Order: sequence, then structure tokens, then C-alpha cells
Amino acid sequence: MELRIADLNKVYKGGVRALDNVNLTIPQGLYGLLGPNGAGKSTLMRTIATLQEPDSGSIQLDGLDVLRSKDEVRKVLGYLPQDFGVYPRVNAEEMLDQIALLKGITSHRERREVVHEMLRRVNLWEHRRKRLTGFSGGMRQRFGIAQALIGNPRLLIVDEPTAGLDPGERNRFYNLLAEIGDNVIVILSTHIVEDVMELCSNMAIIHLGKVLFAGSPDRAVHSL
Ligand code: ADP
Ligand code: ADP
Repeated sequence: MELRIADLNKVYKGGVRALDNVNLTIPQGLYGLLGPNGAGKSTLMRTIATLQEPDSGSIQLDGLDVLRSKDEVRKVLGYLPQDFGVYPRVNAEEMLDQIALLKGITSHRERREVVHEMLRRVNLWEHRRKRLTGFSGGMRQRFGIAQALIGNPRLLIVDEPTAGLDPGERNRFYNLLAEIGDNVIVILSTHIVEDVMELCSNMAIIHLGKVLFAGSPDRAVHSL
């Protein structure tokens, strides 16, 4: 599986060129999108996630025309936005159950299995009855991954997930990402160079909407 982005452009009202002829081929595994604030990372990720339209260009997921197949894309997509809201009255288990239902798992028993497996996988089992508003930053982001992984996405988009986390929390979060496996395309955006270097098998550096580098972290080091 492979995501192919070709000639993608986006200029916001007001004139900011957020995507400037972006061309990228993103294979399976952990892919790092590295760039400073304002580089265009969120714009690119939201566009891939079919949450906003580019001005021009195309995105293909294997044979699928992403920009013209929103419903199909959303079935295979997990998306963890930079800031996600949580409902104050529900606990972690109830929230995941709702999401599993929305993703079409109608059997109560099946949902419970999926939700329990996910709570264990992200290490929140003992917190499953706690309200999300009481979660620490690290717990919240791990919960976000659980949310995004329900339904077994083939494409997982994670936007600046470690902003505001301390180094311990960050490590736990990245260990979780590393466990997701090589048959999923995981796109991780960050402004932290070391994280991409240590974690990702492939990467791109973007700045002012332009791809400055695309390739392996090893090659990036030598091209800097
Ligand atoms: P990053 O995620 O790398 O910080 P963004 O994609 O959020 O980058 O932003 C890229 C550029 O586009 C920035 O200059 C930002 O200010 C601008 N921008 C982002 N969203 C909008 C918007 N809705 N309207 C106008 N400008 C925007
Ligand atoms: P992380 O949340 O990434 O595990 P923290 O340093 O925030 O890292 O928390 C360490 C542990 O302390 C957590 O795994 C959790 O067991 C517990 N903990 C932290 N914050 C809370 C909280 N608000 N409510 C309950 N338990 C918490």
C-alpha cells in the first residue's frame, strides 16, 4: 500500500501559500513529516484526511482517488488531530464504545471485545472508568490513538501528538506508535528532529508549503 501525493497546492484566503506543489510518495510504516510551525503540515494532513479541499492536485491511496472518494477513505482512515475535544461526562470505555458503534460495529459483544483490547493496547485499562477530562496529557494522547485505531485503519494520521508532553510521556506515546506495525501507513507530523530520526523509516521536511527533502532519515542527515 502506498499514498501518492501529486502537485498539491493550497493558498488560503489572505494569500498564504500553505501547500506549494507538494509531491510525495508515502509507503507503509512510520512516515515523519518534519517542519517548523506554519510549514503546512496540518494543511497537508487535513487534506489527506479529506477534511479540507486543496486548490489543485491529486492524492491516490493505491487505486483509490482520495479527493473524490471521501466515504471510502474515511472507512480506512484513523485521524488524530492536534487538539481533540473530549466529552466531559463520559469515561474512556464509554467513549470508545460510542466510536466503535459509529464505525459500524453493531454487536454489543464484539464492541466490548474491541474496546477492551484497545484499552489494554494503549495502557489505559486501569483508567477505563475515569472521565477523559481527568486524564493527563500522556493518557489523553494514548486515548486518542485508541480512538483512531478502532476499525483497524490502513492509514493513520497523527498531527503533532507530543506537543506539551514530558519526555517520559513522549516515549510511551512513540512506543505505542512503533507497535502499530508495518502494514499501516502512519503519518506523523512533528517539529522535533530527533523524533523523526529515531522513529521513522521515511520522512519529508517541509517549509513554507514546499517539500525540501524526502527520503530516509539517514539520507536527510547527510543532506543537511
Ligand atoms: P503547520 O501545521 O506546519 O504549523 P499549517 O498547515 O497549520 O502549518 O499552516 C500553514 C500556513 O497556513 C500558516 O502560515 C498558517 O498561518 C496558514 N493557515 C493555516 N490555516 C489557515 C486558515 N484556515 N486560513 C488562513 N491561513 C491559514
Ligand atoms: P502517562 O499519563 O503518559 O502515563 P504521567 O506521568 O502523566 O504519564 O502519569 C503517570 C501515571 O500516573 C499514569 O500512567 C497514570 O497511571 C497516573 N496518572 C497520571 N495522571 C492521572 C490522572 N489525572 N488520573 C489518574 N491517574 C493519573
